[in-house]
Amino acid sequence: MSTKPAKPTTLVTVTDTDRLGPAMLRVWFEGDLAAFEGFDDTDRYVKLLFTPDGSPNLATMAEGERAAVRSYTVLELDVAAGRFAIDFALHGSGFAMLWARDVAPGATITVQGPGSGYAPDPEADWYLFAGDDAALPAIRQALAALPDDAVGHAVVQVGTAAEQLPLPAPRGIDVRWLFRNEADSGLSAAVQALAWRPGRVDIFIHGEAQAVMQEIRPYLAGQGVDVRAGSISGYWKRGLVDEEFRAWKRELAAAEAG
Ligand SMILES: Cc1cc2nc3c(=O)[nH]c(=O)nc-3n(C[C@H](O)[C@H](O)[C@H](O)COP(=O)(O)OP(=O)(O)OC[C@H]3O[C@@H](n4cnc5c(N)ncnc54)[C@H](O)[C@@H]3O)c2cc1C
Repeated sequence: MSTKPAKPTTLVTVTDTDRLGPAMLRVWFEGDLAAFEGFDDTDRYVKLLFTPDGSPNLATMAEGERAAVRSYTVLELDVAAGRFAIDFALHGSGFAMLWARDVAPGATITVQGPGSGYAPDPEADWYLFAGDDAALPAIRQALAALPDDAVGHAVVQVGTAAEQLPLPAPRGIDVRWLFRNEADSGLSAAVQALAWRPGRVDIFIHGEAQAVMQEIRPYLAGQGVDVRAGSISGYWKRGLVDEEFRAWKRELAAAEAG
């Protein structure tokens, strides 16, 4: 049995923070980003490493302890300048969210990766993007990489209208915002209400796992979409911390594999 080599780790330093809106904070990092070279996919991400009690200071871990990991999309990457940014959804609790909320320039953290898996297929007939706050950075990056004549839909769910962020997209992409405080019908219902276009669709749908994996994915499979060819998965799950969510996801994959 072969084991995958561990992804490289890089110590990075916070240089700045920008409040993008009431519930989104951009944190800028610098470091030697040689390991990031060649990661051009729009969903490229790193794992932030914390001690099991949520500190970024891994030197305090006991021998044999495993770091807690939290995945985040890499934005504004400039390998030569050694710079990138992460947009953190300020969702309420959790190691990563609390660390970002309180972080100041000069703080350091270890990141592992990057990894990646999706970039828009320029040959697709149309595009379908959907997700919530956690997927908004990756959706924004994908929309910016689309051909000018791209057509399709982007549906993004955030807490309130004040949390909308600039989301540049080609004219043919219909961008729709959903607001949880207005008791919207939910991401899944919004996707199911979209007008289906002819031809091959390129799909990128991420966010809360129940909506994405147990509502939207089966719906799309029922529409005859090859869901394995699309990028569709949960980024987090309501009521579960990330370790519990990843265990849930593994069990779901095992059950689906039969
Ligand atoms: C490939 C990938 C890329 C991602 N990119 C981003 C990104 O760029 N920006 C981003 O903000 N997130 C992103 N996420 C999601 C992020 O990894 C999770 O939200 C993660 O759980 C946050 O860790 P935490 O320590 O703050 O909270 P946890 O300790 O994991 O969870 C604490 C509590 O908060 C809840 N919770 C977790 N995330 C959310 C959320 N987004 N909204 C509401 N409640 C939540 C949990 O259900 C739990 O009850 C990405 C995930 C993946 C897999």
